[in-house]
Amino acid sequence: MKYIQNRKRPTVRIETITVCGGGNAAHAMIPIIRNHFFGKINLFLPFGDEANHFQKLIDEKKYLTATIGEKEIDGRPDKVSKFAKDVCKEADLILMPLPAFAHEQTLLQIVPFLKEEAIIGAIPARSGFEYAALKILKDNKKKKVKIFGMQTLPWACRIKEYASKVNIMGKKRSVGMAAFPHKITPELASFLSRIFDLKIEPLPNMLTLTLANVGQIIHPGIMYGLFKGNEQVTYQKETIPLFYQGVTKEIAKTLKEMSDEILILTEKIKALNKNVNLDYVLGLKDWLIYSYEDLIADKSSLQACFVTNSAYQGLSAPVKKENDYFLPDFQARYLTEDVPYGLVVTKAIAQLAKVGMPLIDEVILTVSQWIGKEWIKEGYLEGKDIKNTRIPQNYDINNLEEIIVY
Ligand code: NAD
Repeated sequence: MKYIQNRKRPTVRIETITVCGGGNAAHAMIPIIRNHFFGKINLFLPFGDEANHFQKLIDEKKYLTATIGEKEIDGRPDKVSKFAKDVCKEADLILMPLPAFAHEQTLLQIVPFLKEEAIIGAIPARSGFEYAALKILKDNKKKKVKIFGMQTLPWACRIKEYASKVNIMGKKRSVGMAAFPHKITPELASFLSRIFDLKIEPLPNMLTLTLANVGQIIHPGIMYGLFKGNEQVTYQKETIPLFYQGVTKEIAKTLKEMSDEILILTEKIKALNKNVNLDYVLGLKDWLIYSYEDLIADKSSLQACFVTNSAYQGLSAPVKKENDYFLPDFQARYLTEDVPYGLVVTKAIAQLAKVGMPLIDEVILTVSQWIGKEWIKEGYLEGKDIKNTRIPQNYDINNLEEIIVY
């Protein structure tokens, strides 16, 4: 079956899928898609020497094997290249399972070769993906290309051996997805559900992805709670704190307050425009229960939802080794991805909606000092590093009306 299913007629025909990048997520995705899609799978690897390296190893090993519990599934891409012209020209669907800071540079390489009606999506989208993607498409006169984003990566996964073995440790119950134009969302969601073998929930708009990007609360919020005022702490291997299970009552209070600030922004946007559907922007505790349901032993409080969630079991805080001890790693993705491609974008929308976010401001300011960036200056997003974030204002979007359209 090579088509997105529609009872009347398929409107989007998908015969070739190109996956971008060679990280954990791309490794997991290839065997999963291979087992649920009979078309062609290409792999675009522009980063460093990855294409040569991957090609050489896959030729030796023949297959990439994903281990999911007791099950093993195999798959390999049909074609691998460092160059977009080799692997993107024929693609009907392009998947970008990449860190958010790689989205724009990847899109810029692909865009000259995109088919007129291709679909391109970021998994996960993080926040503001649509502003960057639609600007690049417009600048390159590819206005018919459609975009989508997923709320999170469906799997927790790690490469065990490059181009050969990947471990899939966990799979979400369902994952939200929004596309633009919105009308393709239901068909695309059902196609993605099939090739990923998991329920993909259609979301009404891409603004939902930005506001309901829970990573922007959880990751910087826990880092703030663990290390604010405690930046110089050192650990031995056995004393490194647990990340999610290290959530104290006080950290849970910080997370709830950050979540509440985003819900206040959501309500304000809804009040300004009654037609915008933001019903899927949930409070943090509700989202945890919705996403992990059976994996949470005690749902009585937000703190309990973290510490008794078996999906989070044993995961440590990010640290870096120095001599014979460990220090907090302030260059971890939890900060370098989730703040400029998450919290700062949400703060930018709050600025347009004239909604204050005192605690989120404080978290952004603290993190920016840790990682040596200046995003907020005198209360406004006017710091020197703001140009390297994905705020809508960087793409000439300066009013809420336009944001609501996507
Ligand atoms: P990863 O670190 O394994 O991805 C690295 C790959 O991304 C590289 O191999 C390269 O192919 C590509 N890349 C990196 N920098 C690049 C650049 N500057 N230009 C072009 N390509 C570049 O990441 P991952 O674990 O696969 O995660 C992908 C996304 O999914 C991230 O947003 C991550 O936060 C999210 N995520 C991952 C997991 C997980 O379990 N792996 C879970 C939840 C969310």
